[in-house]
Amino acid sequence: MDQKLYSRSHILDTLNATDQWDVIVIGGGATGLGVAMDSISRGYKTLLLEQVDYAKGTSSRSTKLVHGGVRYLAQGNIDLVKEALYERGLLAKNAPHLVKNQDFVIPNYRWWEGFYYTIGLKVYDFLAGKLSLGKSSHISKEKTIDRLPTLKQDGLYGGVLYKDGQFDDSRLAVNIAQTCLEMGATLLNHFKVVDLLQNSNGTIIGVAASDTETGQTYNFKSDLVINATGVFTDDILKMEDPDAKKTVVPSQGVHLVFDKSYLPGDDAIMIPKTTDGRVLFAVPWHDKVLVGTTDTNLEDHSLEPRAQKEEIEFILKTFNNYLSRPVAREDVRSIFAGLRPLAAPKDESEKTKEISRSHKVIVSKTGLVTITGGKWTTFRRMAQDTINKAIAIGKLPKRPCKTKNLPIHGAMPVTNRDNHMYIYGTDKEGIAAMISADNTLGEKLHPRLPFVKAEVIWAARYEMARTVEDVLARRVRALFLDADAAIRMAPEVARLLANELGKSDAWQKEQSESFTAMAKYYCIKYN
Ligand SMILES: Cc1cc2nc3c(=O)[nH]c(=O)nc-3n(C[C@H](O)[C@H](O)[C@H](O)COP(=O)(O)OP(=O)(O)OC[C@H]3O[C@@H](n4cnc5c(N)ncnc54)[C@H](O)[C@@H]3O)c2cc1C
Repeated sequence: MDQKLYSRSHILDTLNATDQWDVIVIGGGATGLGVAMDSISRGYKTLLLEQVDYAKGTSSRSTKLVHGGVRYLAQGNIDLVKEALYERGLLAKNAPHLVKNQDFVIPNYRWWEGFYYTIGLKVYDFLAGKLSLGKSSHISKEKTIDRLPTLKQDGLYGGVLYKDGQFDDSRLAVNIAQTCLEMGATLLNHFKVVDLLQNSNGTIIGVAASDTETGQTYNFKSDLVINATGVFTDDILKMEDPDAKKTVVPSQGVHLVFDKSYLPGDDAIMIPKTTDGRVLFAVPWHDKVLVGTTDTNLEDHSLEPRAQKEEIEFILKTFNNYLSRPVAREDVRSIFAGLRPLAAPKDESEKTKEISRSHKVIVSKTGLVTITGGKWTTFRRMAQDTINKAIAIGKLPKRPCKTKNLPIHGAMPVTNRDNHMYIYGTDKEGIAAMISADNTLGEKLHPRLPFVKAEVIWAARYEMARTVEDVLARRVRALFLDADAAIRMAPEVARLLANELGKSDAWQKEQSESFTAMAKYYCIKYN
């Protein structure tokens, strides 16, 4: 791999060498990265700016499912499910190193549930068509216990087994960013859009942005600016019109992470109806178990949303309803919260569960194109629709979409997932070579987690990681897997990063401290 391609100084040079962009994308989450990938693969000169880091927002805080959404099926939203199942199939082909075929079991504690969910999931399989991941089936009580040995057995009738996709969200984001750079796009993290540039008619002609590392501000010109900022959408819309109406409302979803011993084996649990009418998942993820989520309406959005006490209690209680060995608060290894960017209801009576989960492309009077809603699974289709819309309104010359069969950086089939490095796909060899050249880089950063020193250096050289948080939250998932271990890893990660990026001792100290201050809210003892 050509290290230069991913280096910040090189990317800044390409930035300064371009006067006029075809497309400027604001936001480096699933949506913005998807749009940049679609745009550059059609050959448009593309710039993407992300204020903190790729997937810093909602896109690193999902349930990690590549799915059609069994819940939407129950709501009769057939088109949405069909579209997502199709995209699930494409993503499994284009990023096979990241998307895993995951077995889910719905445990049945009422006699009719086995029949009811088997029929529903047969419809789910049917909607996936040729891209189905395998057939659903009803399984006996004995088989259910075999697959889920920690499940509460009292009153259990049996289970329904179905298949869906499971992935690593922020790693996919980083791999998409690399794919874009490799195709010639310019992408920068730690670069915040602070204003929209408008001509005398009010039409958007670019953005003003600030490099948050240096404080330097720039003006970038383009006739097409795409707002892909998730729950921050209205902040951008207010830059063009301070009186703009609210278009997005945040709904918070919390996850708790436990040791794998609470859900040994390979299967996930899907609880189709909790006491508040939601779906709860317990999913094996990087040798831990991820349990969530909630759906809490919030007034305001932030970059670091905090779980509410009631949300934590709700997940513990609901999970325990299904376990023979209960989990306690102290067993929580990490807590993370994410914000769904839901379309704002038209009137007060609409509730979050009924608000549309499909995506929307909106064109403002100023020509600004905004893409909101949707989900990780459908990021490719959302991008295709966004760029097609820009073509339809005459902002871009017509060219066909190229992303249906576009392999994402690292793509290779994976059969053995015993070593945690499988997630790097084709990059695994490069990291192994680094370790062979210097054995000390094979040392673990913390005994409770598998991550090694070489991964920090790799993240800085090839994955645009600029801070301790970039590494521990989104390149390796330490913060989301075991927050206390992540805090203990921070000083060594700061040292390795400082060495690699040529930073001072003061920088190292500040990085370690600021990471710790943020990360403690992922620890149960501070919640
Ligand atoms: C709890 C939860 C669970 C979910 N689970 C799943 C799941 O299992 N499967 C699935 O398919 N989907 C899931 N989703 C949905 C999915 O995660 C989101 O739809 C998706 O991540 C949204 O991506 P986004 O890019 O629109 O927003 P974000 O990821 O929030 O990205 C927006 C980005 O814009 C940046 N930004 C904002 N303002 C500026 C600015 N001025 N300048 C530059 N950058 C800026 C932000 O820093 C941020 O990184 C889940 C969502 C939640 C909340």
